[in-house]
Amino acid sequence: MHIETIKAYRLMQPFVEGRYNMSKGRGADGFDAVIVSVTSNTGLTGWGEMAPLGNFYSAAFAAGAQAGVAEIAPHLLGQDPRALTRLNRLMDTVFKGHPYIKSALDMACSDLTARAAGVPLVTMFGGRESDMADLYRVVTHGPVETMAANAKQIVSEGFHRLQVKVGGIVHDDIERVAAVAASVPKGTVIFCDANAGWSAYQARQFVDATREIDYTMEQPCVSIDDCLSVRRSLDKPMVLDESVTSLEEMLDIHRRGAADGLTLKISRLGGVTKTRQIRDLAVDLGFMVTVEDTGGAEVDTAAMAHLSLSTPEERRLHAIAFHEWVTVRTARNAPPVIGSRMGIPDGPGLGIDVDLELLGKPFLDASY
Ligand SMILES: [Mg+2]
Repeated sequence: MHIETIKAYRLMQPFVEGRYNMSKGRGADGFDAVIVSVTSNTGLTGWGEMAPLGNFYSAAFAAGAQAGVAEIAPHLLGQDPRALTRLNRLMDTVFKGHPYIKSALDMACSDLTARAAGVPLVTMFGGRESDMADLYRVVTHGPVETMAANAKQIVSEGFHRLQVKVGGIVHDDIERVAAVAASVPKGTVIFCDANAGWSAYQARQFVDATREIDYTMEQPCVSIDDCLSVRRSLDKPMVLDESVTSLEEMLDIHRRGAADGLTLKISRLGGVTKTRQIRDLAVDLGFMVTVEDTGGAEVDTAAMAHLSLSTPEERRLHAIAFHEWVTVRTARNAPPVIGSRMGIPDGPGLGIDVDLELLGKPFLDASY
């Protein structure tokens, strides 16, 4: 079997709830996604997706993803799409760095491989550990009263896990988290995600003033050194997200005892093949793990769901349903969301059925 055709489409995916805000004025109105199809000479097609969150979240941007996919795709034509490790090595050989441009291609080849084997991707990722994964919802950064009201609303919809955005002016963030915690029932799981917005000094001020509140701290500062220094005065669990950019970084975090949990983002790590490898090692090393991504709709959410459900329940933190964030429906048979939990679609591969009409004309159409 070999790769006969690669197509890539650009798709704007506006957010249902309007602007998504993080600290320091960072925000986005939607995902600007690249969706990739890889078709074999035997007529099988696999799908992949990559969408950055604006230009400010990870070292990735939409125009870069489009240009990168177009640049790297011709190297994959004629290759066996099922030779995933080899394909990843090839992509890293012909194009140094830039893992996010490789992610949708790796995802599409993985989908194709599982479809060829007649198994869902979750089976290829190590096997299904449970039927559904717990979802979290984000309370985006804003005025104290708005955040408390949003948290209350989310909980009233049946969710038990909140990620509260912090990382701005410390004293305001202390008020934000106190107001959110006071507005939700006891037992609601709260993550305070600073998105690397604080210095260690600021993070320590926040930690000291919020000792009475039950939460998990997520990525307070940019560097692992600063996060580790905060962790030394933290009496709560610490999760790192932005710092986990590769296998080497994950091992470094482990060696230095810098975190209890990790948020693995598929595109930041270069695709599902590498994410699966890092996930498996992280689980064996004792980390709690969330597998998610920087953005995307049904294709990307399905990939996240297959990786989440193949993560052992006792090591899994939570998942996110990005396809419910956006106003476009890119596929039928999307990952089912029941209450505050998400499953995987039935069927081989990702299990989804992409709506070709919605995608329109590809910006890349390359054949062997
Ligand atoms: Mg985060």
